[in-house]
Amino acid sequence: MVERTKYILDEADMPTRWYNVIADLDVPPPPPLHPGTGEPVGPDDLAPLFPQALIEQEVTTERYVDIPAEVLEVYRLWRPSPLYRARRLEKALGTPARIYYKYEGVSPVGSHKPNTAVPQAYYNAAEGIAKLTTETGAGQWGSALAFACATFGLECEAWQVRASYDQKPYRKIMMETYGTTVHPSPSKLTEAGRAVLAEHPDSTGSLGIAISEAVEMAAQDPNARYALGSVLNHVLLHQTIIGEEALKQFEMAGDTPDLVVGCTGGGSNFGGLTFPFLREKLAGRANPVIRAVEPAACPSLTRGTYAYDFGDTAGLTPLMKMHTLGHDFIPDPIHAGGLRYHGMSPLLSHLYEQGFYEAQAINQRDCFAAGIQFARSEGIIPAPEPTHAVAACIEEALRCKETGEDKVILTALCGHANLDLPAYGAYLAGEMVDNELDDDVLRTSLAALPAGVGS
Ligand SMILES: *Cc1c(COP(=O)(O)O)cnc(C)c1O
Repeated sequence: MVERTKYILDEADMPTRWYNVIADLDVPPPPPLHPGTGEPVGPDDLAPLFPQALIEQEVTTERYVDIPAEVLEVYRLWRPSPLYRARRLEKALGTPARIYYKYEGVSPVGSHKPNTAVPQAYYNAAEGIAKLTTETGAGQWGSALAFACATFGLECEAWQVRASYDQKPYRKIMMETYGTTVHPSPSKLTEAGRAVLAEHPDSTGSLGIAISEAVEMAAQDPNARYALGSVLNHVLLHQTIIGEEALKQFEMAGDTPDLVVGCTGGGSNFGGLTFPFLREKLAGRANPVIRAVEPAACPSLTRGTYAYDFGDTAGLTPLMKMHTLGHDFIPDPIHAGGLRYHGMSPLLSHLYEQGFYEAQAINQRDCFAAGIQFARSEGIIPAPEPTHAVAACIEEALRCKETGEDKVILTALCGHANLDLPAYGAYLAGEMVDNELDDDVLRTSLAALPAGVGS
């Protein structure tokens, strides 16, 4: 018998529904609140920003949502994505553990982000919207939305965090290739951007500021809406195609994961991989430990507070109850740009509070060491973000080597690093530093949380 290295589903076996974990929870997640009234936000509050279909998906309690045929057709350009058994990494580590990774780097832009960008563009186009605005940090989300907008004939305008805009020209070129207009953030085009520049003319920006700019522009234009690449319920819903495919692939492999690990920025690749496994766990059909891995420099789950906070810096979004480091927290410029967000998905934060999964924080140098070990055995160079999950996998596999346990480990390899190689260059040159978050900095930013809301 050939020992299989990858498990590939037939296109015909690709899942046709997204899974909504909220349907299976005894305690529903706390609602987002209107910052002015302190009341739960209603569909009307969100209508200037999102199309009706996505507003409905944000609050639905249905267990499954059918994936539109037009979206399935675009998904088929790269889905189903492969599940790999990391046999060469296992051998290099000398571990009895079996390590699997679900690889999302096969998408046109090299990450899991098109899984939600495509349906978001589709629903907006179907409701006659002409243009989408968005923010992007390292550029992965911006390039995914740019691709999706090109696919459905929408205009797209992206505010890219200044630091990445200057340091990562390839993502910007990619967005422009797909026809998107890219602005550095903070920009002079918005109130929010001008306010930041007035105080800090050399600001290198943050995701929170860029969100404020994109939201402000969409809110002013009746033909435009805003798109977010993580954090919200509908985004995590769309990403569950990852876990649904992985479940089928584990059936092919005749195996069951004991541990599922993923990196968390806003929580979308992690939720997408783990929610279908959580459904199986809640139904008593499986019992994996589920673990989130975040950067030590931006540790919203392990060191943040669970409280109502804004999703952006200027305070334009509804208040969301989530694990947060404070909405004006600006994380150190670590290389995993996609993990530099001050908050965490409210749904994931709720599940964490309910004890459905655990979390761990790792320093970036340990992550890149793991990324290099992975690349030298498996070939794929992991994006800086999933090196966090890879590091946790390797740590666990080495533990298994000591105990002799043949644990089955699954991780989401949510993107490749082919456009982020300067980060590996910095590591290889010995120039990378670890930015441990200072207690005083954290105390100051948490002191600025909106007071007396929903507590
Ligand atoms: C955006 C991004 C992340 C972080 O976002 P999540 O919503 O937490 O998944 C992680 N990895 C990659 C490759 C990304 O592009």
